[in-house]
Amino acid sequence: MMNCDQTRELLDAYVDGELPAAQAIAVAEHLATCAECSEAYERLLTTVRTLREGLVKYRAPDLLRARVRSALREEQEERPATVTAAPKVRRGVRMPWRALAAAAVLVVASSGITLVATREHVSAEALARDEVLTSHIRSLMPAHLTDVASNDQHNVKPWFNGRLDFSPSVPRLEDAGFPLLGGRLDYVRGRPVAVVVYGRRQHVINVFSWPAEAGGDAPRTLTTSHGYNLLHWRTDGVEHWVVSDLNAAELQQFVTLLER
Ligand SMILES: [Zn+2]
Repeated sequence: MMNCDQTRELLDAYVDGELPAAQAIAVAEHLATCAECSEAYERLLTTVRTLREGLVKYRAPDLLRARVRSALREEQEERPATVTAAPKVRRGVRMPWRALAAAAVLVVASSGITLVATREHVSAEALARDEVLTSHIRSLMPAHLTDVASNDQHNVKPWFNGRLDFSPSVPRLEDAGFPLLGGRLDYVRGRPVAVVVYGRRQHVINVFSWPAEAGGDAPRTLTTSHGYNLLHWRTDGVEHWVVSDLNAAELQQFVTLLER
């Protein structure tokens, strides 16, 4: 059974959906039985939501985040490292949400200052996931969802020709309850990517794809972040990300149809 200190130590990773299943379950069990930790968790969720909305509203969320991280790293480097007995789950430089919120206020308040963003020690996949999620949230704002709005794959697929150096697959899945809504170009990991957009009842499903830079096939993995489900896999030299607030079961079903 996890105690309060261990739970607090893991809350950031828990909110980000980055804990291994066993630890996530242990945290959830503690939260269910401890009012104080539960309150701390709710406060953290509110901070994360507020900050994420702020970042999305901002015209250049990626640039802002890079600045915030850079500012925070400088601050952290001035402090001595703390040693804890808690299990180490952080990958590379993880940004505690509370600290990120504080730094964001500073950066926004002094938006004239220029900070040089240094290289992130976070895996390429974690970075891609973050950008894909930001892109998904941005796409939900009015007039951001599609560049070509059409429920006909014969309009959407050719639209990408000449705009990208590869052609995303645009299968017809309307009969299975996933109508095509259109497509758009987006920008992830420093390159233009194809986004094909499907619907499911009131839910939007964004399907990202781009040529993989390295690595063989990667199996499909599901992560959850801030209430969104993200599926990632890599086949035949193409990176695929699918993002939606649709439940995981139906999203898996969608991807199975997509892969056919
Ligand atoms: Zn507790």
